[in-house]
Amino acid sequence: MGRTVRRAEATECRQCLTYCDRVIAPATCAQQQCPSLYTYDDPLSGTRYMGCTHKVFATEIDVALFEQAEQAKGFGSLKLAREPLAHCRFSVERAHERPRGEEFHCVNRRFADFPDTGPGGLKAFDLRDGLRSE
Ligand code: SF4
Ligand code: SF4
Repeated sequence: MGRTVRRAEATECRQCLTYCDRVIAPATCAQQQCPSLYTYDDPLSGTRYMGCTHKVFATEIDVALFEQAEQAKGFGSLKLAREPLAHCRFSVERAHERPRGEEFHCVNRRFADFPDTGPGGLKAFDLRDGLRSE
């Protein structure tokens, strides 16, 4: 399976019409003082940006605008760009909140859990694999 497909599986689910994405609020990264949250000053504009070293979220954020937003309604969340790390406080955002119908029925309840493919993720395994003859 290609890397792009794996990453899409880790960041979004389209198995029913609810359309769910794994997202993270950069405010949670700042609150937990994550060492992977970097900042730098752009030498040309003098603007300070922040981002995630591991590119769990891929966007670089203008720190002044972020702080302004946090003092108002909050900056909000960004869609993950790859699997989260064990300490990333991601959540699941639903694109559609409609009356429940068959086409909106969740068939992937583990999507809210930490993905098996993430660094540090536990791989699910089938005990029968060890019993099958070669
Ligand atoms: S590793 Fe996770 S918690 Fe740390 S900055 Fe990146 S997204 Fe945020
Ligand atoms: S509700 Fe469940 S099955 Fe539907 S998109 Fe979200 S995680 Fe996937």
